[in-house]
Amino acid sequence: MLRLSEIKLPLNHAPEELPTAILKKLGVAASDLRGYTIASRSYDARKKHNILLIYTLDVDVENEAALLQRFHDDRNVKPTPDTEYKFVAQAPASLSKRPIVIGTGPCGLFAGLVLAQMGFKPIILERGKAVRERTKDTWGLWRKRVLNPDSNVQFGEGGAGTFSDGKLYSQIKDPKHYGEKVLKEFVLAGAPEEILYVSKPHIGTFRLVGMVEVMRDTITKLGGEVRFSSRVETLHRENGRVTGVTLASGEHIEADHVALAIGHSARDTFQMLRDQGVFMEAKPFSIGFRIEHPQSLIDRARFGPNAGHPILGAADYKLVHHASNGRSVYSFCMCPGGTVVAATSEPERVVTNGMSQYSRNERNANAGIVVGISPEVDYPEHVLAGVDFQRKWESQAFELGGRNYSAPGQLVGDFIAGRASTDFGSVQPSYTPGVHLTDLATALPEFAITAIREALPVFDKTIKGFGMHDAVLTGVETRTSSPIRIKRDNETLQSINTQGLFPAGEGAGYAGGILSAGVDGIKIAEAVALSIMSRQG
Ligand code: FAD
Repeated sequence: MLRLSEIKLPLNHAPEELPTAILKKLGVAASDLRGYTIASRSYDARKKHNILLIYTLDVDVENEAALLQRFHDDRNVKPTPDTEYKFVAQAPASLSKRPIVIGTGPCGLFAGLVLAQMGFKPIILERGKAVRERTKDTWGLWRKRVLNPDSNVQFGEGGAGTFSDGKLYSQIKDPKHYGEKVLKEFVLAGAPEEILYVSKPHIGTFRLVGMVEVMRDTITKLGGEVRFSSRVETLHRENGRVTGVTLASGEHIEADHVALAIGHSARDTFQMLRDQGVFMEAKPFSIGFRIEHPQSLIDRARFGPNAGHPILGAADYKLVHHASNGRSVYSFCMCPGGTVVAATSEPERVVTNGMSQYSRNERNANAGIVVGISPEVDYPEHVLAGVDFQRKWESQAFELGGRNYSAPGQLVGDFIAGRASTDFGSVQPSYTPGVHLTDLATALPEFAITAIREALPVFDKTIKGFGMHDAVLTGVETRTSSPIRIKRDNETLQSINTQGLFPAGEGAGYAGGILSAGVDGIKIAEAVALSIMSRQG
């Protein structure tokens, strides 16, 4: 097969224009073309009146070798790469101790799945509940203002990304094509096939719930075990090696290999790991607000007369501004046609985030507008000072919101002018259980408020209307990534001071988003498998 890239066609091209473009590019007769598949499809919307679709195609054609020879200088005509996933090991018939995976977010799920596929029968421990029960608990906060600290948007089967937009793209380097393995497993579990080729795939929260159950089923059928309401309270170490874990129930499980995929919100577990002497360091993250606009405004600004085109879907955006106080402000986790969600995992704190359904057809677009912060400047006190920093502003948001889990909010026009908001305008916020209008000036450190005030009018130059008076800000957005890194060795992926412990995914500082967390899970599964095999001799 040949891989043809950069095949550009107009947005409204007819289906037969694709094979015609292949014949033209390769200079072959129609009878030579045996077939083709779309490997990827993206768009170029820089010219709103002339939006182009950009294809990468895998082409089955006569005389492939001669064509490769003819196009050897053309980087857009190459052999189709072999991206098939290959397992690195097969478990021996008898295993003295089973590997443990902590967490069932995308990282833990993929670590568990790939270990199970290799025959290692992992035990997967999750502090939260199975996804259907967890959904009820999550709605408990969104509808009744009741938080379950072990079962919520952050904790429970599927991890933090379950109630999300399900965006599945990432900028990580992926020379081994692990991302493709993640997407293929998602399709097997019920995701739409288009995620395999569209440039910015997403799944939406409704489908994710079902997919997570199918993946759990697969792991169980392969001999793995997934245990809910099983919070790991202690990790045991002896002479710099993991020896096992104790659960909150008091149960002790011995293990030589523990994958630690606990996400960025497991603050009690971070503290426990620190107390046990596991090496970690503070790392940068970002803080800010969520912003909501009418989705139609974003569609018009991005796609002009093509707004609403079914191939383009609801438009997204990505914005960055380097403020004059030295801080960078950028859009984060943009959710087209979605809703802002209550995302705290701790009582008496308020945290925002965003989610959507597959259709992305809610009236508002939302995104985090966040400011980068770093341990050297903003929370230098100790390794977990970033957690203290997050807690401080999340508690302040709870106070400003009226102490009942409503989020504090303000209209963009009032925020820029520095006066409290009293009434909503044309944009109704989507956050439940509610938004309490106030002045957000004290909701974040002064440098962040100043930087965001400066950035919003600048963003308006890229997305016309972005700085509209009635757009709504809610806060606070503090769980953008982990405040710590649990350092691991680059080769073995084991903790730098605890053999047998494999820090993984977003919580350990090695992923940011569903796809990259899944990819890291696969890497960790491989590292665990290879370590078990080498210890078996
Ligand atoms: P997590 O998904 O956080 O999973 C960690 C798991 O470990 C949790 O289930 C937790 O309960 C469990 N756990 C923690 N401590 C313990 C313990 N002591 N014992 C047992 N279990 C424990 N990313 C995207 O790419 N696209 C999106 O559209 C997107 N939208 C998002 C929307 C929302 C509302 C949120 C909150 C996040 C979103 N993200 C999105 C981010 C994404 O969810 C995370 O990057 C990803 O889930 C990280 O995966 P992970 O497996 O490393 O950790």
